[in-house]
Amino acid sequence: MSALAVESDENTTATVSAVPAPEGVREGAFGSAVALACRECGHRTALGPFYACPECFGPLEVAYEFGDVTREQIEAGPRNIWRYKALLPVPTDIESSPNTEPGFTRLLEAHNLGAELGLSKLWVKDDSTNPTNSFKDRVVACALSAARELDAKVFACPSTGNLANAVAAAGARAGIKTVVFIPSNLEKPKQVNSAVYTDSLVAVEGNYDDVNKLASEIAGEEEGWAFVNVNVRPYYAEGSKTLGYEIAEQLGWRLPDQIVIPVASGSQLTKVHKAFQELIELGLVEDKPYKVFGAQATGCSPVSTAYKAGTDAIRPVRPDTIAKSLAIGNPADGIYVLDICRGTGGAVEDVDDAQVRQGILTLARTEGIFTETAGGTTVAVLRKLVETGQLDPEAETVIINTGMGLKTLDAIADEVGAAATIKPSYAAFVGTGLSEQ
Ligand SMILES: *Cc1c(COP(=O)(O)O)cnc(C)c1O
Ligand SMILES: [Zn+2]
Repeated sequence: MSALAVESDENTTATVSAVPAPEGVREGAFGSAVALACRECGHRTALGPFYACPECFGPLEVAYEFGDVTREQIEAGPRNIWRYKALLPVPTDIESSPNTEPGFTRLLEAHNLGAELGLSKLWVKDDSTNPTNSFKDRVVACALSAARELDAKVFACPSTGNLANAVAAAGARAGIKTVVFIPSNLEKPKQVNSAVYTDSLVAVEGNYDDVNKLASEIAGEEEGWAFVNVNVRPYYAEGSKTLGYEIAEQLGWRLPDQIVIPVASGSQLTKVHKAFQELIELGLVEDKPYKVFGAQATGCSPVSTAYKAGTDAIRPVRPDTIAKSLAIGNPADGIYVLDICRGTGGAVEDVDDAQVRQGILTLARTEGIFTETAGGTTVAVLRKLVETGQLDPEAETVIINTGMGLKTLDAIADEVGAAATIKPSYAAFVGTGLSEQ
């Protein structure tokens, strides 16, 4: 068994042994993917359970040799992420293996929210309707395929909540044992949303960065464990590309002018950009400039802080925010988020917890979408970007709602409630003043 000294998600050095050797990998297991390529030095590694470059320890990313892919082929596919299977590291017969079949969520034209914030053309990509109510079902579906092809015995993850829900559910449906690790102070609904699917939910007394460190250690000790965001991270991360593909397809095969995406590890943002670039390269959309914006909560804003300071050095922080799904103090892809946002002419911005709560309410009351704290962060950042002139209110804009408000009820419970509590009589109702509205 080979053991790789690697940098984990949170830059802690750990020894992570490979899950089963790549020799056993079946032909076509990863579709049109041909290698894992280092994002830092370009060194190529065989497709396998690897995530750190053997030359420089940089992060590995899936590299492809795409054949001809047409709009018609994609449109003829299923109404889930597998319609893009030719662009993902999954086998061509992926639909035959049970998975949660996430994706193809609605892209809503948000007239009311646009009017409220002063934007003339705004869309909300609503990923709260995925099988476990967050965009994490997309990444987990790809990680599950990789875990299967690599013959993993256990499907596992360290999580800020939504990932644990998605892993536990997908593992149940696939009939593979799951073990999920979360910070013990996580919102109760997110704990229950994992525990219903698995009897192996582990609450760790520490923050996400502690949980992640522990997961890297376990991955190094236990053979055959596929940690979705640790040792199969390159495959997992590709799942976020489907958000970019869907937005382009649902806009009628074109790219928006601006997009606002919440940032935790930063993986999602980098992959939506990768998806747009691939669509341009494949000739599936017209080449055009677009700006990418990142959204963070001030209580955990290492990327936004580095952006504003004009530096590449991302200083890890100890998270303190109600936006727990974004509370990664040492983001693995933060540096790439900075590159993309700066390179496209976008920005990274942050908002405080009061603004996050206000963002949740604004989206609910303008569009009838109940988002979680991550979505509240994105809406509030959108408002701030408009108000500070960083985002063009006339240009076509998309924001991504990545999760569901029922999972973070506590964040908003004190802000809303019954307008009045009355006896069941008409006189009592009139007494509230509500009958005159
Ligand atoms: C995980 C998560 C994110 C951020 O994802 P990264 O790829 O780690 O940046 C955003 N929103 C929600 C709801 C999440 O669960
Ligand atoms: Zn390298």
